[in-house]
Amino acid sequence: MQQTSNKTLRGLPSVDKLLQSEECQNWLKDFPRRVVLKAIRESLEEKRTELLQNGSESKVSGNLFEVIEKKLTESGSFSLKPVINATGIVIHTNLGRAPLSDKTLKHLTTVASGYSNLEYDLNTGSRGKRHVHLTALLKELTGAEDAMVVNNNAAAVFLALTALTSQRKEVIVSRGELIEIGGSFRIPDIMAAGGAILKEVGTANKTHLYDYENAISDNTGLILKVHRSNFKLTGFTEEVETADLVKLAAKTSKALMYDLGSGCLIDLKPWGIHTEPVVSDVVKAGVDIVTFSGDKLLGGPQCGVIAGKQRYIEILRKHPLARALRVDKFTISAMEAVLMDYVSSDDITKNIPVLEMLLCDPAKIKERALKIKKGLKSLQNFTVTVREDDSEAGGGSLPGVKFKTYTVQVKHSEIPAEQLQKLVRDGKTTTKTPLIGRIKDDTLILDVRTIFDSQIQEVIEIFREVN
Ligand SMILES: *Cc1c(COP(=O)(O)O)cnc(C)c1O
Repeated sequence: MQQTSNKTLRGLPSVDKLLQSEECQNWLKDFPRRVVLKAIRESLEEKRTELLQNGSESKVSGNLFEVIEKKLTESGSFSLKPVINATGIVIHTNLGRAPLSDKTLKHLTTVASGYSNLEYDLNTGSRGKRHVHLTALLKELTGAEDAMVVNNNAAAVFLALTALTSQRKEVIVSRGELIEIGGSFRIPDIMAAGGAILKEVGTANKTHLYDYENAISDNTGLILKVHRSNFKLTGFTEEVETADLVKLAAKTSKALMYDLGSGCLIDLKPWGIHTEPVVSDVVKAGVDIVTFSGDKLLGGPQCGVIAGKQRYIEILRKHPLARALRVDKFTISAMEAVLMDYVSSDDITKNIPVLEMLLCDPAKIKERALKIKKGLKSLQNFTVTVREDDSEAGGGSLPGVKFKTYTVQVKHSEIPAEQLQKLVRDGKTTTKTPLIGRIKDDTLILDVRTIFDSQIQEVIEIFREVN
């Protein structure tokens, strides 16, 4: 056995011989010698391992020259790259949450490609504050006295809890709201890290106003309400209305904070969604501080907004943590463009990609699905059907709310669904953008809600390459 392998191994060319080949001479015109050499050495090593393990070259990886060429192509490619989201989950945390509109990106590139007045007052010609670019817009949109933006909503909650509750003061939270958000963001942990003491009230399914009342003491630093943004509590449940908590906070002179999670700036009731509080309603109800994400339902860049009474926001701005959690010019420019859209659009659902996809007319989704089906019709190995289904918002937003959608169900006559899923996803087999779908009943399922019009042709070509 060992002998056969050694014999086969001898069939592999040497590095020098490869370097003299015509292919290599061509590569050397496009890539630095160092990069070509590295690709050759790595490819030879892979082939050697393959031969030792299988006694023959693997058909899947291609011949030696193909392997080298692929490595050279990959050597210049980024690790972070676009993918086509065929999961139907609009706010997909693993896929980068909210996509931004061209208009937003234009403002971002204009600002980031040169210098800007990020912290410079053009009026006085002296040092300015980066907050100013977003504060007025946020005040207008939320109705709050003041507002600021930090790195993400986890940071917003952390800053607010740390700055507003002095060490060893208690923060009162309902047991029904002690949530964990993906990626180990747990309200109790955040609180502990900031030095506050968690005072749990009520039970997992029911919390009454008297539970809060009984818990309040001189030691209370803050009352915290958390929106259950990533799960739905059903059945025998009760939570205290925001308005009642506002009254209680006023009566006892305590601050009330509401972590909204998603941060929806528009009322979604006309679309049949009754569970998502609108930021301005919560502010109007008299909550002292609200926190929410920039890249969930709001549809902007990753950031965390803190809006509320001026005297609290002032404290947060001056806290040393605010400097550590501050946002950069990318975030500020993108967020400014998104908020400007909210302020100036007649129909915001057409300007913010997240809202557009979420509230899209199912007939339009069906049209896109049929286009993909039609494009795949000539591929003999594929069986393609279009079906009605539901998608979810995702990313800790609108739990339990189902959105009618259409899926393209793809089956290959020889390739099992899992292998097909991998082929179109890993971007190694096809030269196209990775396509992320899911599997059900040994069928690859593409939820078309999150596939952009501009990506339909590429989706068709991805399968064409596999066929
Ligand atoms: C998502 C969420 C967070 C964390 O927000 P990030 O922007 O992901 O940091 C905090 N609280 C609630 C209620 C959330 O839904």
